[in-house]
Amino acid sequence: MTQQERAKIAGRMLAEAFPRPAIPLRHRSAFELLVAVVLSAQCTDKRVNLVTPALFARARTPAAMARMSVAEIDGLVRSCGLAPRKAEALQGLSRLIAERHGGRVPRTFAELEALPGVGHKTASVVMSQAFGEAALPVDTHIHRLARRWRLSAADAGVTAVERDLKRLFPKGEWNRLHLRMIYWGRTFCTARGCDGHVCAICKRLNGEN
Ligand code: SF4
Repeated sequence: MTQQERAKIAGRMLAEAFPRPAIPLRHRSAFELLVAVVLSAQCTDKRVNLVTPALFARARTPAAMARMSVAEIDGLVRSCGLAPRKAEALQGLSRLIAERHGGRVPRTFAELEALPGVGHKTASVVMSQAFGEAALPVDTHIHRLARRWRLSAADAGVTAVERDLKRLFPKGEWNRLHLRMIYWGRTFCTARGCDGHVCAICKRLNGEN
């Protein structure tokens, strides 16, 4: 089976399992999504969704969050982990968005990645989920599954996985593919030390069903 054929099968089975994948982080604006994604580093989306209502009740805009102290933000996001670093990043990025971008979350990778606490993955999530631009953020689930499904080399890093998936799937599919792979990983790919013979897509790609 070629890599293209494997991608086609995986894409079809993912679409059947998760036809309309919802965005897991609750938000009402691009700014709220950006804040939620920064908070989600090494934290579950469920936990972030529990924390953000109080934070957004206090500050819904970059200008309002820039006026908060790092300590105050820290106190509100404590349960997400890495709170001091995240609070500093949120205060810093809010100030920059207010000062340099007229209070609007910028809409380019270069400008997003220039904000404190915002790497390529976070920028990709915002571009994809807030602005509907084609992007393919590679999280831990996608990184693992792409290699398990042999869409990337077994030792591929996240940059190589992103490049391979973008080559194998049509651009118009990237945003949904990203969410579907995350849901697949969260729902099915939970077996520790799995040998790749348990779940439907792995079995199909291994010629077992
Ligand atoms: S069989 Fe299931 S648990 Fe194992 S690697 Fe594949 S998706 Fe993950």
